[in-house]
Amino acid sequence: MQGNYGVPTITLKSGKGLVVTDIAGKRYLDFLGGIATNVLGHAHPVIVRAVSKQIATLGHVSNFYSHPAGIALAAKLQELTGDKHARVFFCNSGAEANEAALKLSRKTGRSRIVATTGSFHGRTMGALSLTGQPSKRNPFKPLLKNVRHVTFGDISAMRRAVNKKTAMVIVEPIMGEAGVIVPPFGYLKQLRELCDEHGVLLVVDCVQTGIGRTGTWFGYEEEKIRPDVITLAKGLGGGLPLGAMITLGSDSPQFAPGEHGTTFGGNPVAAAAGLAAIEFITKTNLLTTVKSYEKRLKIKLGAVRGVTQVRGRGLLLGIALDGAYAKNLAARLSDRGILVNAPNDETIRIAPALIVTKVQIDKFITIFAQCMQEVDRG
Ligand code: PLP
Repeated sequence: MQGNYGVPTITLKSGKGLVVTDIAGKRYLDFLGGIATNVLGHAHPVIVRAVSKQIATLGHVSNFYSHPAGIALAAKLQELTGDKHARVFFCNSGAEANEAALKLSRKTGRSRIVATTGSFHGRTMGALSLTGQPSKRNPFKPLLKNVRHVTFGDISAMRRAVNKKTAMVIVEPIMGEAGVIVPPFGYLKQLRELCDEHGVLLVVDCVQTGIGRTGTWFGYEEEKIRPDVITLAKGLGGGLPLGAMITLGSDSPQFAPGEHGTTFGGNPVAAAAGLAAIEFITKTNLLTTVKSYEKRLKIKLGAVRGVTQVRGRGLLLGIALDGAYAKNLAARLSDRGILVNAPNDETIRIAPALIVTKVQIDKFITIFAQCMQEVDRG
């Protein structure tokens, strides 16, 4: 394999719920969830059933044909957005969802884009052009021209950058890869007003913050705005590769036949898994549970010595540390059988499956606190 992921130190062989097992038989509590992806954990019976039934019925059809699973999932997403004008384009990943939004924005007749510093929107050349992280961008320049990055959460900076030549503004409701950074409350609303003033598409990248992750279906709902475009992936497929770009409102631009496409996007098996995940989350009222776990984690982790802040919403939390030892701490947690990640030197990110139990949450808190006592905090 290419060295782009380095050489992982753990090889996982199986999983059930939140517990994964490596090839040596060591068990871990998975508090990263495939980076905010496995909303129902591993090998969940409803996903296994939906996937098995679908692959035994109809596996792949190409986009010359529609199929019941794709139609049902699109209808469900439309219902969740609360907008009867919502129109869904299915793809396979977050980068592809953002590529679709980027292409769609050209239909405004404008080509300038405003994104934010520190953001992550994917690795393909278009999505990378939107991404605001120099370390990921610099080796691949030249990227798309006409993309300007401004400070995340700073509406004045947005006001200086956005004008009548801007095609789209793209933001994450919470910047996940940057270390779970939450903008000031009101930012998205002000951004909505700014985009309306100049006739600019507001694209909200909910790839990491969608499908219940933050305690609402989409990461922007807290501010009660309606974006023009939403992008989704990660949790959408319930662990299978699935992304979506959704246009909202009656006057968002639309692709004409033949203007965009992908072979696997919205494949019946991935769509069936996604539908099963959403139905399970709804039926078991998991969004409410997620909110209560957020409170518990914030209170208990916030009281651990060395933790300066617990940022984020729902089950996407960034635990800020009082020094640059997050990578050491993540390694220690892994030794103790807990999987997390360190998006930067001072932050531990957790994004467990939404089906996590209170017992598992408390086990995580206990082991986290012990590791904080043991780790060299510098
Ligand atoms: N957008 C956001 C907010 C993300 O967090 C990610 C991945 O981490 C992406 C886009 C890219 O998604 P993918 O890796 O599926 O291409």
